[in-house]
Amino acid sequence: MATLSEPRPAMAEHGGSAVKAYGAHAADKPLEPLAIERRRPGPRDVEIAIAFCGVCHSDLHTVRSEWDGTLYPCVPGHEIVGEVTALGSDAGKFKVGDTVGVGCLVDSCRTCSACEEGLEQYCTGGFTGTYNGATQDPPGHTLGGYSQRITVDEDFVLRISHPPDQLAAVAPLLCAGITTYSPLRHWNAGPGKKVGIVGIGGLGHMGVKLAHAMGAHTVAFTTSQGKREDALRLGADEVIVSRNAEEMAAHAETFDLIIDSVAASHDLDVFIQLLKRDGTLCLVGAPEHPHPSPGVGGLIFRRRSIAGSLIGGLAETQEMLDFCAEKGIVSDIEMIPAQAINEAYERMLRSDVKYRFVIDIASLAGTQAAEPDVQLPG
Ligand code: NAP
Ligand code: ZN
Ligand code: ZN
Repeated sequence: MATLSEPRPAMAEHGGSAVKAYGAHAADKPLEPLAIERRRPGPRDVEIAIAFCGVCHSDLHTVRSEWDGTLYPCVPGHEIVGEVTALGSDAGKFKVGDTVGVGCLVDSCRTCSACEEGLEQYCTGGFTGTYNGATQDPPGHTLGGYSQRITVDEDFVLRISHPPDQLAAVAPLLCAGITTYSPLRHWNAGPGKKVGIVGIGGLGHMGVKLAHAMGAHTVAFTTSQGKREDALRLGADEVIVSRNAEEMAAHAETFDLIIDSVAASHDLDVFIQLLKRDGTLCLVGAPEHPHPSPGVGGLIFRRRSIAGSLIGGLAETQEMLDFCAEKGIVSDIEMIPAQAINEAYERMLRSDVKYRFVIDIASLAGTQAAEPDVQLPG
């Protein structure tokens, strides 16, 4: 077993290892081959050879700095699956050869009340995102899964028990899966509940599968007429084309929970009107521009709530992966080589993805960075 016993070395003294990646140098630049560096495993680290990485709309928002604050070079990707290749001396949760995943988080303060409750995504000290987060590793911010290898603290690594031939389709569970699973559980989706999922993209198609698997009466809302049949196949009991006012009106005041995964700003009132008294509209989509402010009448006259939800903590992510393995749930994917990522982003903006792009990381082997982005010592 390749156990590395040294404490985590300062990169400048010992050097990490060079890894091929795909990322962007600026908000208005396309993604291109990059050469990055990964730290050697410290005592509690797991080194992972990445096999596949899902493409989340948050990757696109970040690469193009639509949420501001993107640090460059930016290597996105937080739906990571692969194989453990090395372990730190004190890392005991995994062994070399294990199939593992990494989602949106690679660290958190571990001491605040959120962390103590296993809700690392709400860490008040600030969690470290898998990309664009603060780190001592070069270049000073974290670099994500569009890369051949990653080194992650074992506490932020997930175990995958799906069959090996499903690995690529498991990758999107690490963000799209947990981001819909967590609010479905929090608001008690299950038998006797009517649950809507708005936007049948990466998150939404997982929301439909998961709500169905939990036993809720599941309704898919789409703007794409062409997704009607697919949504039924994914597990929806009913499908509503949300631009059709008559179809919408037929469901007024009937929903316990609606999860909105739309990546663009839009009218929320039309969905609030579909909630029962005390129903909840949970926003998970994070558009570049704010939604128009909803009217108060629709809320106060029925004691309805608008809520939000962010990914999920480590324990719940593991619970979700195990739930999906048991139920045979994976994502519907379209595999792409890294070289196709810019076109994939354009298609994602046109809602033309069925239903998640996944990068085959083997495609990075044939890429060549124009120049090293991180200077390797020596
Ligand atoms: P996606 O695959 O692009 O799916 C978004 C879907 O929204 C589209 O497929 C489309 O579905 C619908 N849509 C897009 N533009 C629309 C418009 N102008 N009006 C109405 N519907 C529209 O994106 P994703 O990866 O699922 O991510 C969705 C959003 O969630 C992004 O903003 C992302 O950053 C955010 N996100 C949040 C979290 C969190 O923790 N809260 C985690 C991950 C991602 P139809 O064709 O069915 O209408
Ligand atoms: Zn994501
Ligand atoms: Zn914390």
